[in-house]
Amino acid sequence: MVMGDEIKIRYHNGFDKIKYSDNSKENLAIINRTTTVTTTTSVYQTSTVNILDDSCKIINNNNNNKTSATITSSYRKDNNNTNIKHYHQNNNNMPDVDDANMQWFHGKITREEAESLLTPREDGLFLVRESTNFPGDYALCVCYNGRVEHYRVIYNDNRFTIDEEEFFDTLIELVEHYCLDADGLCTRLRDPVVNKLVNNNLTTNNNNNNFSNNNNNNNSSNNNNSNNNNNQASSLLLDPKAFEAAGWVIRMNDLKLGEILGKGEFGDVLLGSLHGQKVAVKKLKDSNSKAAQDFLTEASLMTSLRHKNLVQLLGVVFDGPSICFVTEYMAKGSLVDYLRSRGRLHVTRKDQIAFAADTCAGMAYLESKQVIHRDLAARNVLISEEGVAKVCDFGLARDQTLGLDGGKFPIKWTAPEALRFAKFSNKSDMWSFGILLWEIYSFGRVPYPRIPLADVVKHVEKGYRMEAPEGCPNEIYDIMRQAWHFDPDCRPTFSIISQKLDQLRALTT
Ligand code: ADP
Ligand code: MG
Repeated sequence: MVMGDEIKIRYHNGFDKIKYSDNSKENLAIINRTTTVTTTTSVYQTSTVNILDDSCKIINNNNNNKTSATITSSYRKDNNNTNIKHYHQNNNNMPDVDDANMQWFHGKITREEAESLLTPREDGLFLVRESTNFPGDYALCVCYNGRVEHYRVIYNDNRFTIDEEEFFDTLIELVEHYCLDADGLCTRLRDPVVNKLVNNNLTTNNNNNNFSNNNNNNNSSNNNNSNNNNNQASSLLLDPKAFEAAGWVIRMNDLKLGEILGKGEFGDVLLGSLHGQKVAVKKLKDSNSKAAQDFLTEASLMTSLRHKNLVQLLGVVFDGPSICFVTEYMAKGSLVDYLRSRGRLHVTRKDQIAFAADTCAGMAYLESKQVIHRDLAARNVLISEEGVAKVCDFGLARDQTLGLDGGKFPIKWTAPEALRFAKFSNKSDMWSFGILLWEIYSFGRVPYPRIPLADVVKHVEKGYRMEAPEGCPNEIYDIMRQAWHFDPDCRPTFSIISQKLDQLRALTT
């Protein structure tokens, strides 16, 4: 493993830092994204980990049987058998979120959720959450004078600090300090908002393949009973985000299924109706497969992402013959089909720039959340009834073992460094976005039309780039060329291109 490599891990409980080692030295790897994955039997956190310096493998030194971790997929060049070492607050300064001393810790909740928990606004009422703006850091949220102050807790060099003057080895020590003295905060900390999920061991039910009480409410009494036999129960912590009260779990009875809309990697996509609203239902062929895990990873990630240009998850069905996940219905189908079926005669300049700008805005949002798509292409953009383009299939845990010649790997859309070194990033997504722009402006043609698939990589590495599609505006082709810069660092960000496309959109009639 070398610096800059990424690995994907999956682990129980709310750890947010891991250490890895090459046996001679230990190194910290920073997890830059954490999502809760809920399967019918367990709850995991999954993260992408950036390796910060050279090392060979991750060792398993985990003596604490409350946790376990496995690497679910990796982008490593080698195939070392690797495992992960977890660090607990108690012995290694890493927050152990189900520690009874940390009942004020609420994990990955948003600023708004924190504010709604902090009621009534009594001076000194507080909680700690993971920072959403600064992944890896925390936020101490305190009520004062009827308002909530959010202090960033910087986690650096194994220490926590708010003011960069006073440093603490643990979050507990930090909280204890500010309980004794305001020391620069608006008030000293008085009463914690207790995390009921930790307190009540609200967990998934292992026995009946069903979620029960998935809401972030204190409604766990019957749940506790059903989980008494569940050994895992006490060690699992649910991320409240994954269980947002509004309609996360959908009952099969509430759903009417209709015609097939398309065929997906995991199974058919059907038209459905939920309380009279049209929805799309992705059925999972085999609920026990690895695909099921991937599927749930996607569902879980999708609950935490909301943007007008991302296809919105509405909920997951667990009580039907197969697991399904339900998303908003996108009446006009996939962008590539839309372009091909309507063609030059019906798709206007205004439509093209709108699709490009919409897609880019969705991607800029993913970029801001440090989420990498890995399979951005016109087939993974859907068009709503109103003609709004939205990105779908984000967050898929893709099978990294697929060889370049493995039929499914989207070679023509994938950046050279991602093909060669499996270095996926927002910048490799930007490369794919350049290809997607080419698809839009060629009305859905397959990229590199005259080059055999097997030769594409070779040509691209030698510097060959596609020409502008016929009639493509210069400004758009210019963006394609920037997106296809060989050096990922020289490619623009989605946020920059998004602004540019919005300007072009405003000028296009
Ligand atoms: P996968 O990526 O797993 O292969 P997709 O999510 O891309 O599957 O879906 C396959 C096809 O199903 C799409 O090309 C589209 O035609 C249709 N489809 C998927 N999701 C929706 C949706 N939300 N609304 C309408 N059609 C959809
Ligand atoms: Mg797809």
